[in-house]
Amino acid sequence: MNLRDKIESFTREKGVIYGCGSAEPFYEYADTLSRTVPFVNYRAEERMYPDLTLAGAKGLIALGLSYNNSYERPQDDKLYAALSEGAVGEDYHTVMIRLLNELAELLFKGTEYKYRCFCDTGPLSDALVALRCSLGCAGLNHAVINERFGSMFFIGYIITTAELEPTNKPQNRCNNCGICVKACPSGALGYDGSFNYEVCVAYLTQKKGIIPDEFKQAMGTYIYGCDICRKVCPITPEPVYTSGCAYPEIAELLNLSNREFQGRYGNTAIGWRGKRTIVRNALIALGNLGDRRGIALAERFLTDNAEELRDAAAWAVKQMKKED
Ligand code: SF4
Ligand code: SF4
Repeated sequence: MNLRDKIESFTREKGVIYGCGSAEPFYEYADTLSRTVPFVNYRAEERMYPDLTLAGAKGLIALGLSYNNSYERPQDDKLYAALSEGAVGEDYHTVMIRLLNELAELLFKGTEYKYRCFCDTGPLSDALVALRCSLGCAGLNHAVINERFGSMFFIGYIITTAELEPTNKPQNRCNNCGICVKACPSGALGYDGSFNYEVCVAYLTQKKGIIPDEFKQAMGTYIYGCDICRKVCPITPEPVYTSGCAYPEIAELLNLSNREFQGRYGNTAIGWRGKRTIVRNALIALGNLGDRRGIALAERFLTDNAEELRDAAAWAVKQMKKED
C-alpha cells in the first residue's frame, strides 16, 4: 500500500477525516500570522515556517475528529450550565495526539522519514494547516467547514519529511448566508469575515480574571467554550454518539472541592483551565439564568478570596434579584 492508501484505510476505520498538503511556508497567510493569537506563545516565524519545527519538513497531514454529539439538556428544573460539546469526555488533545501518533507510526515506522504530531498547542495554526490540506474551506463562522463534519470537528496535524500528494481542493461550502453572524451572542463575527476573538464567548470562558460586565450577558450559560456559530450553520455535521453530558448542574459544580473538580474534569479539555475560572463562569451563568433559587448559591462567593469570584457573584446576585 502507498502512503495515501494507508491514510485512507486508517481514517476510514477510525471515523476521522483527513487531507494532505505541502509543508511550504504559509506565505499566503503572512498578515494573519503576524497578529496576536490568544493562548499561543510561538513566534510569527515558527507559525510561518514548518521547517523551523521539523528540519527538512516537506508534507503535512491534517486529521479531523467530529464532536457533534447533540447532547440533550436534562428535562428537570435544576439549574444547568453548558459546555461546548467538544469539552465532554476525554480531552480531545489526548485523543487526537493518540490518533496522529498511531497513523504516523503506521506510515513512517522503519523508514527514514521523520515526523512530529500536534493538536491545538503546536506552532502552526490548526485551521491554516486544515485549509492547506483541503480538509475543508473557510466559513464565515471562522471555522473550517467540511462536507461531512460541518464545522464541528477538532483538527490535528503531522509535519513530516515525507512528500505527500496534496488532497484536491474541496468545494466551497460556506454560502455567506450570515446565519452564524446573526446567531453569535457577542457580535464577535462580522459579515465581512472579520472575527474579534476578545469578545468571543469561547475565549471569554477560558480567559482568567474579572470578566467586564458588558461581556457577561453574552456568555449565557456557557462555562467552557461556545458552539452556537457552528451549530446553527446549515452545513450540518454528521452526528457522532459519545456518552456524557454537556450540562453540568450548577449547584453541584459550585460545591466541588479542588480534589473533586480534578477528579471530575482533570482529564477533560476543561482541566487545564482550573476550577476558579470555571466557577467564575458558573456564577455568571446563574446571573444569566436569572432564577432566584441561585441567589443563595452565588451569595456564598461574595466574600471569596478571589476577586473575580466576588465580582461574578455580586453581578449574578444583582441579575437574579432584578427578575422580581
Ligand atoms: S464561538 Fe460563540 S461567541 Fe464565539 S464567534 Fe461563535 S457564536 Fe460567537
Ligand atoms: S452559517 Fe452560513 S455564513 Fe455561517 S459559516 Fe455556515 S454557511 Fe457560512
